Amino acid sequence: MSDTPPQRLATRAIHGHTADDAYGSPYPPVYNTTTFGFASTADLLDVIDGRTRGGLYTRYGLNPTIFALEETLAGLESAEAAWVFASGMAALSALFLTHGRDGIVCVGDAYGGTLELLERQLPGLGLRTHCILGHETDRLDALLADGVKLVFFETPTNPTLDIVDIRAMAARAHAHGALVAIDNTFASPVNQRPLELGADIVMHSATKYLGGHSDLTAGVLMGSRALLEPVWAWRKNLGTVPSPETCALLSRSLRTLVVRVRQHNANAQAVAEAMARHPKIARVHYPGLPDAPGHALAKTQMNGFGGMLSIVVRGGRDDATRVADRLKLIRLAPSLGGVESLVTQPCTTTHHGITPEERARRGIPDAMLRLSIGLEDAGDLIADLEQALGD
Ligand SMILES: *Cc1c(COP(=O)(O)O)cnc(C)c1O
Repeated sequence: MSDTPPQRLATRAIHGHTADDAYGSPYPPVYNTTTFGFASTADLLDVIDGRTRGGLYTRYGLNPTIFALEETLAGLESAEAAWVFASGMAALSALFLTHGRDGIVCVGDAYGGTLELLERQLPGLGLRTHCILGHETDRLDALLADGVKLVFFETPTNPTLDIVDIRAMAARAHAHGALVAIDNTFASPVNQRPLELGADIVMHSATKYLGGHSDLTAGVLMGSRALLEPVWAWRKNLGTVPSPETCALLSRSLRTLVVRVRQHNANAQAVAEAMARHPKIARVHYPGLPDAPGHALAKTQMNGFGGMLSIVVRGGRDDATRVADRLKLIRLAPSLGGVESLVTQPCTTTHHGITPEERARRGIPDAMLRLSIGLEDAGDLIADLEQALGD
């Protein structure tokens, strides 16, 4: 477990931005403007040349509402800097275009959009990309020896909730002078802070736990100033800055992040334990279960086990579909990390585009259901699953 006391994080989530002293507002006001005026050309040049921080033009990210959000986000991941983006995919695109030019290796299962970008789009721009399974460590060493300079992965992974050893991967990559970037969306900074464990860059789809209410789309990259600096021009010229309104909404969400994630953890643990006892469930994937393959490792790098879990229904694909379709409280929808619980069947959604054989190779049976456990009463969620699993 990390030695950062949770109180520190909870406080930073609420007070982690420089106060706006003009009118004593307790939270950052929304500067819903595209441009900012200056008293003199000298003042304008101070902002353009980075000598003073101030508003200039919102697409550049030079807007006080964006600054306040980025300051809070950087604090949550113990990062020097954070850049926000219009979506998680916008953040990943800028990351790969900036730091992936000497090759990218993606280890283990990743978000569908990430794999599509890596396998189909970036190679067309001449980037060398490699997607390998989590256990193919001999291939990883060969790629690192061959000069690949960016190692990217998710942990816990989607949808099998495998745990990847962040410290070990960082040591391995750094021995070859490669960077480690982690998609920390599933864990959230409350449960896991990869930069404290040796990773170089952290990415989030803020659409998920950081936003937490299924009402905004945004992304973020965090890391050292030196590594984030070159990403800035890509964001500016791809034009992927989020609107000030979205940033204000995300800042509002961050104030409750810590209490939300703690409750997601508690609810998911209760649901996982109930499902592990259920006769119609063949398997539960949740790192918080003591017999989960990743449990011991998770305890060394996570403060909580998260709100995501997967269950494998006894029978086949149609039996799982029947359960998904019979759930009443838990909605059938993609996405995750919101206050409301959601269910998806990976073979019909996130992993629909790959063959059944490839799904089997990745350990994703067609009878698997992925649950994003929300903040409803855990007993009501368990009752909903029990009625859906009933005869
Ligand atoms: C949703 C998601 C993304 C993509 O984020 P968007 O905000 O939808 O662009 C990337 N990685 C993970 C793990 C996700 O869940």
